[in-house]
Amino acid sequence: MKRTTIRLFLVAAVAALSFCGQTRGGGQTTPSAHHKPQPPHSVRLYVFDCGVLHNADMGRFNLKKEDVTTTDMSVACFLIAHPKGTLMWDTGAIPDNAWNPNGLAVTVHVTLPDGEVREADVDKSLQAQLAEIGYSPSDIEYLALSHYHYDHTANSNVFASATWLVRQVERDAMFGGEHSGSLQPSTFSALQESKTIILRKDEYDVFGDGSVIIKSAPGHTQGHQVLYVKLAKTGGVVLSGDLYHYPAERTLDRVPTFEFNQEQTRASRVAVDAFLKKTNAQLWIQHDFDGNVKLKKSPQFYE
Ligand SMILES: [Zn+2]
Repeated sequence: MKRTTIRLFLVAAVAALSFCGQTRGGGQTTPSAHHKPQPPHSVRLYVFDCGVLHNADMGRFNLKKEDVTTTDMSVACFLIAHPKGTLMWDTGAIPDNAWNPNGLAVTVHVTLPDGEVREADVDKSLQAQLAEIGYSPSDIEYLALSHYHYDHTANSNVFASATWLVRQVERDAMFGGEHSGSLQPSTFSALQESKTIILRKDEYDVFGDGSVIIKSAPGHTQGHQVLYVKLAKTGGVVLSGDLYHYPAERTLDRVPTFEFNQEQTRASRVAVDAFLKKTNAQLWIQHDFDGNVKLKKSPQFYE
């Protein structure tokens, strides 16, 4: 397939303004005759293609190029459709309106507030993928982010009408507190006014039936969390957030250099391993390129 490269340099200050304006304008694409989809009879998990990140520096992950099959990382966003409601988990690396969809993949360079530049390929908008299965952002009841790094928050403002499920320490870090790693605050600024539920326990049961549980897994950021989804046919799945980025971090026992707290990350990995054993669940490492390639993508779903 022919690929066009559009180089889009986003200077942080300009991006801060344009991201806000553009994401608010995103609601205009909602069809006026939109009907909310019927809730499914059993829990569904949709996987959206939110792009590919190119990594030049494996040292940040305490890995060498020889340790991995590819240095590329997948970016995935997820929708959980439950009989009682909907939950978005993570919202991508590139805001839908920060690139110019032309039907072809585009490469976007994001300049982060710390001056670092990241390169990502995107060929579908998150809102277009939601619309394909009948959802508009206003249909989404709950929003949860694994954590506040820019490659998980890009379209968060689009879901500001949802109820945000977040830990207090994470929210504090997002709005003025101490943080680590790369943030793009303009992409989640609207959440400050969102209806919010502060998660205080290790495990938060989103729909009250044990099928969708947000589990605390701090370390990568202060309030980093993972998501357990119990599916009737597939069984249990844990979405990793950035507890790991590459499978090699797990097999070689490596912790990235840019964690908020490396010891917390180690403890969270032990706790999640125990949880996986207890629930007999699979771990899906969200940035694992090879793993992601094998996943069914929306409009297909896991149930
Ligand atoms: Zn990430």
